[in-house]
Amino acid sequence: MQAKPGQPRQDLERFFTTLLEKFGPQGWWPAETRWEVICGAILTQNTNWRNVLLALHNLRQAGLLDGSPLAHAALAEIQTLVRPAGFYRQKARTLRDIAVWIEAAHAGSLDRLFALGPERARAGLLSLRGIGPETADAILLYAGGLPVFVADAYTRRILSRHGLIAGDADYDSARQFLHQHLPPDGAVYNEFHALLVEAAKQFCRRNEIRCEECPLARFLTMPKADSRQLRAKKGSRPSVISSATEVVGSRN
Ligand code: SF4
Repeated sequence: MQAKPGQPRQDLERFFTTLLEKFGPQGWWPAETRWEVICGAILTQNTNWRNVLLALHNLRQAGLLDGSPLAHAALAEIQTLVRPAGFYRQKARTLRDIAVWIEAAHAGSLDRLFALGPERARAGLLSLRGIGPETADAILLYAGGLPVFVADAYTRRILSRHGLIAGDADYDSARQFLHQHLPPDGAVYNEFHALLVEAAKQFCRRNEIRCEECPLARFLTMPKADSRQLRAKKGSRPSVISSATEVVGSRN
C-alpha cells in the first residue's frame, strides 16, 4: 500500500499491513451484484445482517434485486418483502426512491452514477431520503469501487484509541482524516475498512478492550496501564454497516 507522507500515514500503513497479515483478505461486500450491495447497505441500517439476508432473499425471489424492476414495483410489495429488516416502510421507500432516481437522473445506469466521481455521486445520494453519509459512502465504495472511506464507529473507535483522531471525532472529521492521509485507492479502502471492523469486533469492543490479544497492541503509544483504563471508557456505537460482518465473520 502506498500512502501520503507523514506519521499518520505510516501508522495507517502499519495498521493495514498488520491486520491483513492477521485476518487475510475479507472479501467485502458480501454480495453478487452492485444492486445487492446497494439494497444491503440500505437495509442494514439499525438491524442485524441476518435480518438483511432474509429481506434480500425476498427481493431476489421477487425479481426486485435490480434497479429497473425495483423502480417500477409497487411500494406495498417492497414493504412486504423487506419487512424482516425492520423499519420496512422507510426502507422500502428509500429502495424505490434510489432506483427511480438512478433511472430518471442516470438513465438507469450505475456506471453513469459512479462515473460522476465520489463527490458528485455522493451529493446525489445524500439528497435522497433515508441515505446518510455512512450509507452513501458504503454504496460508493462497495458498489462503485470509488475511493471513499467508510469512517464508521468501529473505524473511529480504533483510530481514537490510538490517538490518531479525537475520541469524540464525528463521521465527517474521521473521514476527512483518512482521506487526508491515505492515497485515493478504492481497493485499499475496501480492504482496510473491513479489516478494522474485524479488529474492532474481535478485540477493540465498545466496553471490552483486549489489547493483550490484539495485533495492533504494538502500536499503542500509551503504557499498558493506560490502555486498561480504556476499559472503563464508554466507546462509540457500532455502525449500521458493520453488522454485515456478523455473517462474513461466521463464514471465515
Ligand atoms: S484492542 Fe487495544 S491494541 Fe487493539 S485496536 Fe483496540 S486499543 Fe488498539
